[in-house]
Amino acid sequence: MATPSSIHIVCAGGYLQCTTYLIDGPEGAVLVDPGSSSGEEEILKNIARLGRKIEDVKYALLTHCHVDHALGAYRFREMGMKLVSSRYTARVLRDGGREVWYEYPEWVVPTQVDIVANNEDDLPFCGLHILALDTRGHTPGCMSYLVGVEGGTAVFTGDLYGAGGHLSWSGSDGFSVKSTLRSLEKLCRASPDWVFTGHGPVPVPAAEWLSEAVRKGRAGEWVVDGRFHPNDVPDSRLRVVPPQQRR
Ligand SMILES: [Zn+2]
Repeated sequence: MATPSSIHIVCAGGYLQCTTYLIDGPEGAVLVDPGSSSGEEEILKNIARLGRKIEDVKYALLTHCHVDHALGAYRFREMGMKLVSSRYTARVLRDGGREVWYEYPEWVVPTQVDIVANNEDDLPFCGLHILALDTRGHTPGCMSYLVGVEGGTAVFTGDLYGAGGHLSWSGSDGFSVKSTLRSLEKLCRASPDWVFTGHGPVPVPAAEWLSEAVRKGRAGEWVVDGRFHPNDVPDSRLRVVPPQQRR
């Protein structure tokens, strides 16, 4: 599956670092999930390698508030990018708390989000057509971004569901199985052509990945991390992995 040529991976991950994407538009570029700042050097190097100036990158879309996605967002704001997120994520980045990262609530540099996006907001950034979709579940404030690119639409989903076809980490404050399933159903209806998760692109067609994720969710086949007693897990069909079997 060829990746649209306007989408670039500018950091493939690393220590507490998500996959960071750059989307080229006719009037500038948009970053998706800057990460924790451990990937900052690589991101800047790759933006330069693509022949873009940092001032051409005008917005950073945040899928959610976790440290590996958003801790370093303030650095890119200082470089001139406008930060975009849901209201929940904006509040967490401003105030901190357990929602940032379960054991390290102090791991946040208080940051102002510039643009709060609501469900189905059109974000006409850099000449691109971007639609914000409330896809809560992994956290209560997760947002996905559907972007028109050459040949179709791409969606950036953060940690809603893993690229490899498994539920992402489910220990977040406010994690919800029901919301995750509803959000995946919503993405199915949006019928994107490509999915880019917070930890890598999905290697199969989007429709196939999304429908299989929904099927597994409906069948109770998701494996839920039991360490933090997520809010609505006790669905008896779900397999909850006790803490000692993990890591
Ligand atoms: Zn996360």
